[in-house]
Amino acid sequence: MGRYTGPACRLCRRAGEKLFLKGERCYTPRCAIERRRRPPGNQTPRRRRASDWGLQLREKQKTRVMFGLLERQFRNYFEQAQKSPQNTGEVLLQLLEQRLDNVVYRLDFVESRSQARQMVRHGHFTVDGRKVNIPSYRLKPNQVIAWKSSNSDKQFVKDLIAGMPRKAVPAWLTVDTKNLSGTIIRPPNASELESGIETRLIVEYYSK
Ligand code: SF4
Repeated sequence: MGRYTGPACRLCRRAGEKLFLKGERCYTPRCAIERRRRPPGNQTPRRRRASDWGLQLREKQKTRVMFGLLERQFRNYFEQAQKSPQNTGEVLLQLLEQRLDNVVYRLDFVESRSQARQMVRHGHFTVDGRKVNIPSYRLKPNQVIAWKSSNSDKQFVKDLIAGMPRKAVPAWLTVDTKNLSGTIIRPPNASELESGIETRLIVEYYSK
């Protein structure tokens, strides 16, 4: 199955919560979740309690959509996390956080993860001075991520930089706004992972 190309807000309405897929708009009253919390479609709202499996599926889908992954990619991350002796759920989120597109988003260089993925794909970033255009590239501690110097005078880059700071940069990263670069200091610890994700439900979903 290909990547979802429909309206991003529909995914939030399906999940029933904000997934912050669209950047600045997500923080304004124009957010679709602020305006209508009902799931997409014409149906009359029903008060039906989701089954355990339904809850697990919803949590898995929510996390997958948040990081912009296909099912196969998400499952691969889960299988890698499962091989670790540490907590599977935590390792899963650590792996997701260390993707290049996510780090570009966390460094506040762009407004959303989908924009980060697009920028990375188009070759706007370097890692340790070398162009990397693979959004899933896994970063290791001490690696330096930077805007490609030939791009830093382009208008869209200036616009993105002008919007900083949009959000706080987490403690496992440092950002150098003067040189338009950032460094990964260490992998994120449990308290620094994406909040609001019940990894236990994801582990249960895949353990069936
Ligand atoms: Fe989700 Fe952002 Fe759309 Fe709100 S504006 S529904 S948070 S994608």
